[in-house]
Amino acid sequence: MKLIQRRHIPLLSAHKDHTASAAITPLAAPELVVIPLRQHIGEAGEPAVAIGDRVRIGDVVGESAARVTATVHASVSGRIRDVKDYPHPLGGLVPAVVIENDGRDEWVDLPVIGEPEHATPDELRSAVRRAGVVGMAGAGFPTAVKLDPPPDSDIDTVIINVMEGEPYLSADHRMALEHSDEVVDGLRWIMKMVDAPHAILAVESDKEDAAAALERAVATAGLGSRAEVRLLPRDYAAGAEKILVEVVLGREIPSGGFPYDVGVESQNVSTTAAVSRAIRLGSPLVERVVTVAGDGVERPGNYLIRIGTSFDHVLDEVGRTGDVDRVIMGGPMMGIAQADLAVPVIKTTTGILAMSPAESRQGSEVPCIHCAWCVEVCPIGLMPYLLVDLVRFLDPRDAAAYNILDCFECGLCDFVCPANIPLVDVIRGGKHTLRERTA
Ligand code: SF4
Ligand code: SF4
Repeated sequence: MKLIQRRHIPLLSAHKDHTASAAITPLAAPELVVIPLRQHIGEAGEPAVAIGDRVRIGDVVGESAARVTATVHASVSGRIRDVKDYPHPLGGLVPAVVIENDGRDEWVDLPVIGEPEHATPDELRSAVRRAGVVGMAGAGFPTAVKLDPPPDSDIDTVIINVMEGEPYLSADHRMALEHSDEVVDGLRWIMKMVDAPHAILAVESDKEDAAAALERAVATAGLGSRAEVRLLPRDYAAGAEKILVEVVLGREIPSGGFPYDVGVESQNVSTTAAVSRAIRLGSPLVERVVTVAGDGVERPGNYLIRIGTSFDHVLDEVGRTGDVDRVIMGGPMMGIAQADLAVPVIKTTTGILAMSPAESRQGSEVPCIHCAWCVEVCPIGLMPYLLVDLVRFLDPRDAAAYNILDCFECGLCDFVCPANIPLVDVIRGGKHTLRERTA
């Protein structure tokens, strides 16, 4: 995949003023949490509990024996009230475990590895798998699987992604700044699991404070000769994994390929901290930092939120204000608008944005005027207007020849389209149909 020299690239306003300097703050746990059994790419879990069971924080409530899956855990202590289909922030209904919080915050005894320094890569991966860690930037791919590349891959570099180019979002920034030691500790185990001699922590240039904190943590951990912090120019699209690999190392991941095809393991910064907690503490992924922002929010910030907390509860806690046009999970470019605010925070909820009409700039769709702006901004040289025509009016299979599956849903084509065509939604749907038909 060739990085295209882009023209007419929109200068995205970062909109991070309200949250980039907001320290991570725990949000009060709700009376009920809803834990979806699918919060990841891969097989959904089967319920591991029944109505009436008592659970503590960290108890497994859903799991599967499949290779590509992720275990899910109770994020509060209390009693199982229900196991049923429930609205999911990625759309549709998904089986979920509903837990009544008893407010005691009792934890299970965590399965700590005695001396991780002496653990094998397989033992480390097992700890990550037990903890249910997934890619927390939004992809949700099970991390233990990603940390187990094919045996013939020769990984020479780990890249930790601290770019977070999406406007409004600053949860990763705060994690890198406030938990730099944990991030570098996670990096140490990742390098061991994939047997990589070198690492680069790629930080966007507007996060100099995070870069400095990571540099100090690298030095303290004695990784100075093997890991470097690299500041990169602010560029929204460079946070995408395939583009980041090309920007940092000049290596082109082939269409349909993976970072390990070019000797790279890449991980998001919050995921890396979760790897550390899984290995050092045996701690499962039961909470995460979420940026809550937008004109509809009274106290925007970065909140540590239990998995399973409803968006409604989050917005009640941070205060609502003004006229909210729509609520989005994630950032305004790649996020998903929510129809029902009963949906729960999941492991991939990077942000909750309550956007005013002025912020969400939604307009009515009109026919394509063939301006080609969508083509000019696409970082990987796709033709979004053509993909949309193929998906809508012909057959998504025809779009495969035009590399629709390479689209990483960055949203830039949507952003510039003067006809307000929901290009990403249509392309996303086309990819989904294509994968179903070829499965
Ligand atoms: S969403 Fe997909 S098609 Fe649109 S600009 Fe991004 S990569 Fe290209
Ligand atoms: S889809 Fe939108 S941006 Fe692309 S050519 Fe048509 S009008 Fe222009």
